[in-house]
Amino acid sequence: MKANIFEIKRFAVHDGDGVRTTVFFKGCPLSCVWCHNPESLKKQSELSIYQHKCVKCGNCVRVCPNGAHAIKDDKHVFIRENCIACGKCEEECYFDAIKLYGKEYSVDDLLPILLQDIDFYKDSNGGVTLSGGECLLQYEFCTELLKKLKEHGINTAVDTCGCVSKTAIDSVLPYVDTFLYDVKAFDEDVHKRCTGVSNKAILENLKYLDDMGAKVEIRIPYVPAYNDNQIEKIAEFIKSLKNVTAIKVLAYHNYASSKYEAIGVKNTLPQLVPTEEDRQRAVEIIRRIVDIKVS
Ligand code: SF4
Ligand code: SF4
Repeated sequence: MKANIFEIKRFAVHDGDGVRTTVFFKGCPLSCVWCHNPESLKKQSELSIYQHKCVKCGNCVRVCPNGAHAIKDDKHVFIRENCIACGKCEEECYFDAIKLYGKEYSVDDLLPILLQDIDFYKDSNGGVTLSGGECLLQYEFCTELLKKLKEHGINTAVDTCGCVSKTAIDSVLPYVDTFLYDVKAFDEDVHKRCTGVSNKAILENLKYLDDMGAKVEIRIPYVPAYNDNQIEKIAEFIKSLKNVTAIKVLAYHNYASSKYEAIGVKNTLPQLVPTEEDRQRAVEIIRRIVDIKVS
């Protein structure tokens, strides 16, 4: 069994406790307007071109078996529909102008990479986090990987949007120490407007995890003009749960514009960015409602 993974980040410090390695899986059931990982959305591998780094050396033109690259009028041209994401041009571009998002890994490929920082995990109470995209779309692979990590005594976290099947949750549940669970809106219409899908399954799955006694840390992205009117309602919902250990309010930023351009998709990033004062106000609203650590 193999999974499509677009990044492996070592020494991550924002994806759970301590020092961690985070594995980012391709594919997501949501399409949040504020997504800062647009390269994660499609299940299939895809090529990104950073034209400002291209020196028009022509290496990619030479190695591509499908004629997806050309140099015309002293400009590099990429014909995306010809690309089968084989990755040959990425290997031959010495200027980092090409990046292939999505490579296939088996559990045996990944394990040595994830085990190399085991001493750092132990010293910092860290471990390994599975993220995305939505890692649980590839839950059978995640289950196998998490099981192996637990056999090595490694702390595990799963970062999920929650829009997955109960089968997926049940499958990984025995091997996950902490769920990092995104809640983007409470009202279904707001959630649909922000992400393109209903939040019914997301809230049900969160309640289910809570009933099963899972340790859950909630993450709320704070995006002015999209979900800033949802903070109080989300906090009221969390108040009805028993096993949430922490809540984090994450301020939206719009640094990802160049990635949208590089993978050739429409940039949907909102222009309005919250200040730290805005974020703190949201934190204070939640603190007034729940007796849980909020940051
Ligand atoms: S190999 Fe890289 S630098 Fe050379 S033409 Fe292709 S994209 Fe540009
Ligand atoms: S990934 Fe393969 S098919 Fe796609 S442009 Fe590069 S060499 Fe051509």
